Amino acid sequence: MTPFTYARATDTAVALREGAEAGAYYLGGGTNLVDLMREGIEQPARLVDVTDVSTSISDTAEGGLLIGAGVRNAALAADMRVRTHYPMLSRALLSGASPQIRNMATVGGNILQRTRCTYFYDAAAACNKRVPGSGCDAREGFNRIHAILGASPACVATHPSDMCVALSALDATVHVAGPAGERRVAMADFHRLPGDTPDRETELAEGELITGVELPPAGPGMRSTYRKARDRASYAFALVSLAARIDVAEDGTIRDVALALGGVAHRPWRATLAEAHLRGQHAGENAFRAAAQAELAAAVPLRDNGFKIALAERLIVAVLTDLAGEQA
Ligand code: SF4
Repeated sequence: MTPFTYARATDTAVALREGAEAGAYYLGGGTNLVDLMREGIEQPARLVDVTDVSTSISDTAEGGLLIGAGVRNAALAADMRVRTHYPMLSRALLSGASPQIRNMATVGGNILQRTRCTYFYDAAAACNKRVPGSGCDAREGFNRIHAILGASPACVATHPSDMCVALSALDATVHVAGPAGERRVAMADFHRLPGDTPDRETELAEGELITGVELPPAGPGMRSTYRKARDRASYAFALVSLAARIDVAEDGTIRDVALALGGVAHRPWRATLAEAHLRGQHAGENAFRAAAQAELAAAVPLRDNGFKIALAERLIVAVLTDLAGEQA
């Protein structure tokens, strides 16, 4: 491992000052970054530990929640407000990683975790994300876990987070602080599609720090859940996952719906085409399947991952059928 220095920030101002130093990286729970350092994929000159910064979950004046970036994933999943009003978020968190990792991992670190593309972690492989302009060995290689939506010739990686898929469907907002002040970015826009610059994964600018995530009030009448299809029952990344919220009127009309897919793209994939297809329709399998097919019409499978298209369609139909049934 390349030598580095270490500083522990006590508040956002200290973190930003320390983070402005050349080669500095912010450190959360270290459950991804330390692995990357061990493999020589990342070589920070300085680690700024921000696990003591923004560690609370507070109610907002609007009736939502403000979750500090330093809150541990296990604590967020167990928070009674989250379990009661945002069950999809709690389920998404509990479906990720292992209890030990969830005890360490922070909300900010979860958002910024890197793809699990095998070639990204192999220094001998061509990878535009790791070394811009070097190529992409995943395109013609083993690409079972890779993207079917929004990919580019430069990169077909997927974002691995479960939590972020739920946050996207919940219309969460990421709070960011940086040298130019504070700003907010919609979760659905926070992660970028790869385009020609897969090494730029988020909208964070140089030196900026995630300080928290804000959830709007949970809408009355909304039923929600998170379901994950994966190779093992635990400790596995999503092949496809779905965060879904739906509000069905007494006459069966879909008043509102929000859907986000995981495991299919370089960012949590907000299924806006499917949502538009569903609003005002009568809740039922035909409408759910047509909406899924509308969203997935643009999917482009690679050699090994064509199964994800059918899997995503079945997941959307099954989850919405269950949620609408609960509400009837
Ligand atoms: Fe690298 Fe992206 Fe290609 Fe994987 S898919 S090898 S992360 S460029």
